[in-house]
Amino acid sequence: MKVIIFVVIFATFTALSADLQCEHGTPDIPKDWVDMVTPCVSKMRAQIQTELKASIQYLAMGAHFSKDTINRPGFAKLFFQAASEERQHALKLIAYLLMRGELTSNVSKLIKTTIIPPVVSWTSGVDALKDALRLEATVTKNIRDVIKKCEDPEDPKANGYNDYHLVDYLTGEFLEEQYKGQRDLAGKISNLEKMMKDHKALGEFMFDKKLLEEL
Ligand code: FE
Repeated sequence: MKVIIFVVIFATFTALSADLQCEHGTPDIPKDWVDMVTPCVSKMRAQIQTELKASIQYLAMGAHFSKDTINRPGFAKLFFQAASEERQHALKLIAYLLMRGELTSNVSKLIKTTIIPPVVSWTSGVDALKDALRLEATVTKNIRDVIKKCEDPEDPKANGYNDYHLVDYLTGEFLEEQYKGQRDLAGKISNLEKMMKDHKALGEFMFDKKLLEEL
């Protein structure tokens, strides 16, 4: 008798749990609107990594200038802000891929866990600013590479497709910000070098104070 009751309870529970499961399966959405091509999507995924790497590098810079032995709060603020901006760029690219229906399957390729800042120490503020400008120049080149790939209908895997919208977005928004940012860093390097030529370490100290006021 006990066995029969157990079997009935077990069967009822199994039937109920089948009804209550939260898995809805993959929705059947037509794919016609998902029109990005593989070479372009691959470049976009790589660019997300580039932005995240830049963010981590700027985090390292901010931390370096925050150390009690360095203590340059203006430089630290500048680089921590730059880290947030780079992270924001990565988010914008992810949002773009989502808008175009390109991230519905696997997001694990988007963010690698092995991003380590290549440089963790700088001899001076001007040294770090020059490193930042070189970093931005590399990022700019990478964005241009994404644009080139996404507007290349001759690529064998592009099926004659030119991604006008993405190219316009990257050119108008991302490159614009890159060029302005590069000019800003170049101006800062110019000012700091002049101040240090006349005032040595005091020049960097004064520049740091000015950065803190402006940011
Ligand atoms: Fe960026």
